[in-house]
Amino acid sequence: MPAAPQVPPSTTMSTKQAYLNTASNVVNPLVGNPALYSAMEVLSNLSDVGKTIPLIAPVFILLKIIIDIERKVEDVDAKCTDLLERITFMLSHLPMLKDIDIMPATRQVIERMTGVLKEAAALISAYRKQSFLARRLSISNRERFTFSVEAVNSCCQNLLMSLQIHQSKQLEILTRAVPLDEYDQAAVKFVDEHGGDFEAVKYDRELVKEFAVQQHLDIPDEAVMEQLGENVADVVKEVEGRIETVIKENIGQNVGTAIVDGLKSFAALLNATENEQRLGCVQCEQKFTRSTNGPKACSFHRAELNSGVPKTYPCCDMKLPCQYGYHREKHHCDYPYGPFFARFEMLQSKDIVDKWASIQDTDLEVGRKVKSEVQKASVGQLLRWVTGGARLEEPTILISVGQVTFQSKYYFQTFTVPELENIAKSVRYSRRTLIFRNSPNDDQYSMAEWLLAVSGKITGVRITAKAVTSSTPFVRVVPIDLSTGQKSGEILAISEGGLRSYIPASPYILPETVRVGPEISDKPIRDTRTDFKSCSSPSLRVILRNMADPPLDKVSRDSFRGSICVFNDNAAGSSNQVIIARAKASYRFIGDSEYQRVSAVWLDERALLPVTINARQLFTFTFGVTVPRTEEEQKTGVLCALHRPLRLKIILEDIEGEECSLVLEYVHKPWRFDEPYASDIAILWMAEPIVQMERRTIRVSKARNTDTLLDIDNTDVTVMQLQRVVYHAIKTGKTEIHFSRKEFNSGEWQWTAWALVDISCQRVYAFKILLEEGKLKERKQFACLGYVLCPEYGDVIQETRPISYATESITIPPLEPYTLPAYPTDDTLDDFKPPPRALNGSSGASLLADTTKHQAELPHRLTEPLDNTLERIAMALEQSSLDNNIARIAVALEQLVGMLGQLQAESRRWQR
Ligand SMILES: [Zn+2]
Ligand SMILES: [Zn+2]
Repeated sequence: MPAAPQVPPSTTMSTKQAYLNTASNVVNPLVGNPALYSAMEVLSNLSDVGKTIPLIAPVFILLKIIIDIERKVEDVDAKCTDLLERITFMLSHLPMLKDIDIMPATRQVIERMTGVLKEAAALISAYRKQSFLARRLSISNRERFTFSVEAVNSCCQNLLMSLQIHQSKQLEILTRAVPLDEYDQAAVKFVDEHGGDFEAVKYDRELVKEFAVQQHLDIPDEAVMEQLGENVADVVKEVEGRIETVIKENIGQNVGTAIVDGLKSFAALLNATENEQRLGCVQCEQKFTRSTNGPKACSFHRAELNSGVPKTYPCCDMKLPCQYGYHREKHHCDYPYGPFFARFEMLQSKDIVDKWASIQDTDLEVGRKVKSEVQKASVGQLLRWVTGGARLEEPTILISVGQVTFQSKYYFQTFTVPELENIAKSVRYSRRTLIFRNSPNDDQYSMAEWLLAVSGKITGVRITAKAVTSSTPFVRVVPIDLSTGQKSGEILAISEGGLRSYIPASPYILPETVRVGPEISDKPIRDTRTDFKSCSSPSLRVILRNMADPPLDKVSRDSFRGSICVFNDNAAGSSNQVIIARAKASYRFIGDSEYQRVSAVWLDERALLPVTINARQLFTFTFGVTVPRTEEEQKTGVLCALHRPLRLKIILEDIEGEECSLVLEYVHKPWRFDEPYASDIAILWMAEPIVQMERRTIRVSKARNTDTLLDIDNTDVTVMQLQRVVYHAIKTGKTEIHFSRKEFNSGEWQWTAWALVDISCQRVYAFKILLEEGKLKERKQFACLGYVLCPEYGDVIQETRPISYATESITIPPLEPYTLPAYPTDDTLDDFKPPPRALNGSSGASLLADTTKHQAELPHRLTEPLDNTLERIAMALEQSSLDNNIARIAVALEQLVGMLGQLQAESRRWQR
């Protein structure tokens, strides 16, 4: 066994430490390491001796190799320095050979010395090729140094003896123990703590990583694990072979030149045979070689470039990489780097991973809009690396722990069967079954562990996930056959986390929907009348006729379009042309006694006035009119002619100022009410009778995709949202919980939904939805309050519990009363029928004159009693409640009908 570790006396520990603590500072090894300086002095003395004594030449070359290696490395190492000091001490005696005859015994010692130096150079070379971390954890290194030191020591004593140098006392340099620096000691302790065998750390990357983190060293990369897996003896042997070649090639030519050329780097020669592989870095996606890799060689971002505009890196919002480190040749989960996430996403698809077990627990406390804190873990088989790619021949298991984002801690690692076997070797010694845990906090964490048989064999993986709001974690055990890398049995559900509901013992009975507002219809109040007759001055023989169906088309809230034709009714062959010079229009609503000017009239561009129409010819005008609005109407945006049909009188004037006219009617045609769809769970509406005469409707529908449970007016409702609501209810005791809200037209109307929670069954059983007028409405008059049953959702505990209803406080807010006024739907003001034209010109003219007189009187005579009747209806409506009025309205209407009949009879008489 090697001697107990002790701090080396002569090496510059403090300098070394300074170096390690500030790893970025480049330290000149000559300054930081006096041992190297002394060795170079001895080397220069030896070059003189070597020129005259060829026997010394290999010794010279070997010392040069060692110096070259040590000059090239970045850190001073206690064991290397110790060995170098001993060698330097031994070789410092060789210049004496110049002055004496070399005896066979001395020659023998020097030959032996060459062998010892060769082994030492190979050891230093092999040792130095290992990374700082691997050198420490490969605890057998110390034994190799001890052997080498012992060989140098005995060779040195033989040399001193043969040179007849007598030491009065034991030289400290030859008797001291091989030093161990603090990292070596820490490594020994660490391995001891984990089963005491190097095997324990040899294959377990997580364990090696733990040591690195503990010692503030770089996170181990693949190379470190390879180095730990290597057999150092093989590497030393290989280097020895190369050193021999270097010596032979150099000595073989000329000893003198070899020594003169000794200034060139033998170490470079040693490495020259290695044709260094160029590797691709997974972090920065650049090429690199292991020899050029260093702690600042690679620059990258922690996160992926996001797809937004402008494109940024969410880790730092900077263009230049925010992270520095070693290049890495294989994907890893040691720390986040951009390209990892795209690869992770790609490896999520079903044809890539067959998930044997997957658990997830969500923190129900976090607000709905904040990204939720999810604990998760899964174990599965990796089937292929790319979608559609070839299936992996080697069984590969994939273990994933934690939420994979650049801000969280996660684990995502594959294991082939040989890798599983290796890790099993380590776990057998270390008994460290933890694969990964993302937090030490017992309230919320995700974890994966190896399951071991008594023999120490891995038999499966256990995954655990617990959110802070769950009382118990989700735990699953996945049995795995180590020899095949396959699942070897059923997944065991050890524990269930999350929030689960119970089976309600009876169905929920919900209150009826309550609606405040009038019943309205989506049918027009009656058909549009088209029986109005063309009317013209006696001297203007034209006939006007409506050409559109319906006669007027509403093109905006207050504009209408129509089309009429003008027929020149003069006898065929007559030279009486009609020249239309002007078009006017006036309007009134049913019940109004007078026509008023419209605010605008325009004609189709083809009808540029004046228009000349020959006898028996016609001309079609397409026109538009705008009906003036009151300020109040403009403010509310009420549709024109919403309640009372509109009458529009189009008046055409000929060149002499004679007029002809035609009345057209517009009856409001409401939008069709929304019909329920097959996908609807419920449809709720409230009436809006004042501005548009419509139903304001929302639908509660079945889910549109698998991630949601249902949607309320196109707003998704997820199981997670409901669980949050239930959690909140259990915590606060409040069972009527505000769920969502939507406002329309900046506050014209809105709906609000509350989730009603059954505390006993731990579930949302219904949504309560209130439709009401919004902030834009000063007087609130209409509303609807409805209930919608919530479908079954989520994980259910197979246990029945009595139902418990929510304690409700929300009701329809106080509303002002509203009664839909009874508007007149028709009147007779425009029911004039012109007399048939006389065949005889003179009698026709007199009849026409008579008619005109009659026509002038008629409206006045008729409208008087009609107006009175309408007034009475209006008064009756205003006086008291609708119910009381119905009888009175009926009487008034009866009178109205009677009068209309009278009117009709009179009109008929008049026609005759
Ligand atoms: Zn960044
Ligand atoms: Zn890189």
